[in-house]
Amino acid sequence: MFSAFLTRVTLFITVFLMAFEPFVPVPKDEKRTDIAPVKNVIFMIGDGMGFNSLNKTKKEKGIETLTMNTFPLQGESQTRSSSSAVTDSAAGGTALACAIRTNNRFVGTYSYDGYDLYSHPMNLCELAKQQGKTAGVVTTDSTSGATPASFSAHAHDRGDEADITFQQLRGDLDLIWGGATDSFREETALEYGFTPIYNKADMDALTEGTRSFGQFTDDVWHEVAKEGMPTMTEMTLKAIDLLDDDEDGFFLMVEGAHIDKKSHQNQGDGMTDALVAFDQAIQAAVDYAAAKGDTMVLVTADHETGGITLEGDEYVYTSGSHTGVNVPLLVYGCDNFIENGQAIKNKEVARRVAVAMGETNFPARVKPPVAHGGRDNDSIFSPVC
Ligand SMILES: [Zn+2]
Repeated sequence: MFSAFLTRVTLFITVFLMAFEPFVPVPKDEKRTDIAPVKNVIFMIGDGMGFNSLNKTKKEKGIETLTMNTFPLQGESQTRSSSSAVTDSAAGGTALACAIRTNNRFVGTYSYDGYDLYSHPMNLCELAKQQGKTAGVVTTDSTSGATPASFSAHAHDRGDEADITFQQLRGDLDLIWGGATDSFREETALEYGFTPIYNKADMDALTEGTRSFGQFTDDVWHEVAKEGMPTMTEMTLKAIDLLDDDEDGFFLMVEGAHIDKKSHQNQGDGMTDALVAFDQAIQAAVDYAAAKGDTMVLVTADHETGGITLEGDEYVYTSGSHTGVNVPLLVYGCDNFIENGQAIKNKEVARRVAVAMGETNFPARVKPPVAHGGRDNDSIFSPVC
């Protein structure tokens, strides 16, 4: 009789606790240091890719599930810059690369030190190189675009393309691939030890241990490749193949830039085409990670573009600009990166990636070069404090 009573009390308490468990608040922006370690990171940025960019693509392309939607962890990144509730790709990229928020148009520089006079924040590629990993940046934008620049340069303004390109050439990344930029000079690339590549045949011919600078002469963002050009998937697979021989691991950033560019023009067909090409590249990265078991694939965006909204049963553009809404944060291969459904700040995404790479002292302050264009390589990685 008494034990039956005890059983009922225990049952009641259990049900009571179960009922309230979901209401335990998850700290929004906890500075966690227990992120599961990974050897390799493939950081994939869909520029301008909001939740409704995914929904519009699925509906209009008749796709039931995108690869990125199958990731075990599905959360959100809160996108803003220090100067605006709506970030651009420079400040958005800097948050994802350096774990700090800065002003719109600033690339890898502090909001209070845009000219890089005192110091600049280390980006994840620099962290990877410091750790002895290989590192690379792949984009469908030009190589001097704001997102690739955030992972490979430090500049007062995203428009300082000559400065950005020169820093990339003077730097020590293993590969930087994207569309051609006016400021690229083949003789300078050769001088600094890069093999220039211009098309898929050049890319395919690269062998491990070769540093390469990609200046593709035509678009590389379409689902179906332009003649002589690689697709995003082919670039991603080749980049992984070139980087993954290092026993210390690798860091690779891959950007699908035309999700943003096409949304600025409210060109739904172009945006969905670009998003599918991006998702296929994600599939290639996940296939690699699944086979290896030591690689995190992280997919997010720097901001949403186009204010895509459901009207009736159509996803329509309501803006030609960026918006300040949260964007997807999807993680494969790092089981405790976020709680499912959790929203964290964009800069916290980069900090957690650094923790997964074994570095809890991030964001990190780095001495500036003597002068842009006169960069002393030894100064790049000397921490000030
Ligand atoms: Zn944009």
